[in-house]
Amino acid sequence: MGTATLEIDLTALTGNWQALDALSAPSTVTAAVVKADGYGLGAERVARALLRAGVRQFFVALAEEGAALRNALGREPDIFVLSGHMPGDTDMIGDLDLTPCLNSVEQLTRHFEALPGTGFAIQLDTGMNRLGLEPAEWAAVRDIALTQQPNLIMSHLACADEPEHPMNAYQLDLFRELTEGVDAPRSLAATGGILLGPDYHFDLTRPGIGLYGGAPFADAQPVVRLSLPVIQVREIEAGESVGYGCTWEAEKPSRIATVAAGYADGLHRVLSNQAMLYHGTTRCPMVGRVSMDLITVDVTHLTETPVALDILSQEQTVDDLAEVAGTIGYEVLTGLGPRYGRRYVG
Ligand SMILES: *Cc1c(COP(=O)(O)O)cnc(C)c1O
Repeated sequence: MGTATLEIDLTALTGNWQALDALSAPSTVTAAVVKADGYGLGAERVARALLRAGVRQFFVALAEEGAALRNALGREPDIFVLSGHMPGDTDMIGDLDLTPCLNSVEQLTRHFEALPGTGFAIQLDTGMNRLGLEPAEWAAVRDIALTQQPNLIMSHLACADEPEHPMNAYQLDLFRELTEGVDAPRSLAATGGILLGPDYHFDLTRPGIGLYGGAPFADAQPVVRLSLPVIQVREIEAGESVGYGCTWEAEKPSRIATVAAGYADGLHRVLSNQAMLYHGTTRCPMVGRVSMDLITVDVTHLTETPVALDILSQEQTVDDLAEVAGTIGYEVLTGLGPRYGRRYVG
């Protein structure tokens, strides 16, 4: 088969959720963030496994993602939409019982007019300046908004993956101040915030990346294995080159394996001549440029001809590969693309 296989370990995924859940007090609810198609791994399968493991609160970025999730999960769980209540979303939010995280006075007004008496959350901006009501706006609408009984009041940390960053304590203090005396449940922490400790946990936490095995959750179990089938193996002489632009030249007689995935599959071209692939635990260097659908690998030192080589595995996590590419695990995962055969195990 020419299609590469992305294996997703649902037992590791739910184990990561349980491990993050165990870091906060039993009174704190641990939700799950499954936006961007479950960080590229397939939101429906991921969310169904998490539902079975006990998750009852899910977060997505867009109402459309929420609609697909509602169809996959049924009526029971709460589904929060981080982009809030946008024009055109009213029917989806109302019909499918989605909970918009209202980010502005405009969204509050739209929601209260279009769907009075239905569930909503409020997002406050405590310094990230991305989504949410500014403190002054909140002061102006707070009393009215609270009479409508929000399901959740939340904010998001800008620097939670840097525990020493002064922004964390600043945002914590401001969030406390803005939500002083409020009855509604409160939420501040994503994966990084959970690891900052109990002060940050409040009533509900919203981990995403940690579920999928990524930093900053250092104790995470790897969830993905990406195995690329070998299409062809060739012998080349010393002095011959490999790939577009002839950027790699063999110093000695070599065996080169060509595997079936490329930059169209989220294996960024910047990995060219940098990344490793693995045959079991044996490192095999990527040689030459990554092309759209293909990667070339030096397998001279292997004693057998490989059928497939792994680029993500226990040996090389999403964060390891991200580091080579100069990015973060989040981008590696969400960039993986639709062409892989996704295989769910566990
Ligand atoms: C993406 C996101 C999360 C999850 O963040 P992770 O770092 O992946 O745990 C939580 N809350 C909000 C508002 C987000 O945008």
